[in-house]
Amino acid sequence: MKEPLFLKPVFQEKIWGGNQLQTSFNYELPSDKTGECWAISAHPHGVSTVINGKFKGTKLDELWKKESHLFGNPKEPVFPLLIKILDAEDDLSVQVHPDDEYGKKHAGELGKTECWYIIDAKPGAEIIYGHHAQTREELIEMIDKGQWDQLLTRVPVKRGDFFFVPSGTIHAIGKGIMILETQQSSDTTYRVYDYDRKDDEGNLRELHIQESIDVTQVPHHIPVNEIKQVNVGSSSLTTFLQSDYFCVYDWEIEGSTKFEKQAPYTLASVLNGFGYLFIEEQEEPFELKKGDHFILPNEINNWKIEGDIQLIASTPGSKNSK
Ligand code: ZN
Repeated sequence: MKEPLFLKPVFQEKIWGGNQLQTSFNYELPSDKTGECWAISAHPHGVSTVINGKFKGTKLDELWKKESHLFGNPKEPVFPLLIKILDAEDDLSVQVHPDDEYGKKHAGELGKTECWYIIDAKPGAEIIYGHHAQTREELIEMIDKGQWDQLLTRVPVKRGDFFFVPSGTIHAIGKGIMILETQQSSDTTYRVYDYDRKDDEGNLRELHIQESIDVTQVPHHIPVNEIKQVNVGSSSLTTFLQSDYFCVYDWEIEGSTKFEKQAPYTLASVLNGFGYLFIEEQEEPFELKKGDHFILPNEINNWKIEGDIQLIASTPGSKNSK
């Protein structure tokens, strides 16, 4: 039977987290400082579990290994993507991630290219996105002297904005922002600056200055990214990004929209509304509601979504589907 794989998320407590994942998405949270919902993940720090159908109770990393036909028999050893929802009640640390080469060598895992869809942002909310240093010497000097205001580029954000954050980009999500993050399956973060904050035990979080200097792109280039939007009936379908690592889409559906498979498998997260997912040759649809996350495996070639509903979807990029 052709069926989607609905997944149970894993939650992560963070010093900058809040309780919006409960108030907005109705998730049961482990604490009022829940920063991250790992919605679709096979990363060892938080693996999602299938909650429906034939594979109910199976972890995603296990499926990737044992049922690789679901993903088009890929050659990569690990599920390459990780989908998160983040609730930044407070500022996240200023950070940078390595590329695949550096990540493999120094952390034994993939690098981390990521991108953000802004689900919600309080008035005045900002992200840090890139820096002003022109040379590596200048970067080192400004970090050394703590000249954060001169070094870091701040960008105001609003609901619906999209940012591509390739590995090597200095960045931070500011307080009052909720995002859906599509990223490589990696948990390697190099912290440049943490606002001199202390945790509950009075300790500063570790910084990784040398690694940050090693991997930061200097000078910072704003990645060129063309966003394409089409209307299909009353629905609006947007392609946010087609990169080597993943492609990311926004499906805002009103009524009924048909889809054809574009990649070996497709990931999707419901951000708003309610609807139904119809799979080819099946009469009974699957209910879709805000906060659901699922994968359409390789054997599903066509599907239809009905309702008044918004989903952010992604597929593996060219680097991952070879
Ligand atoms: Zn990051």
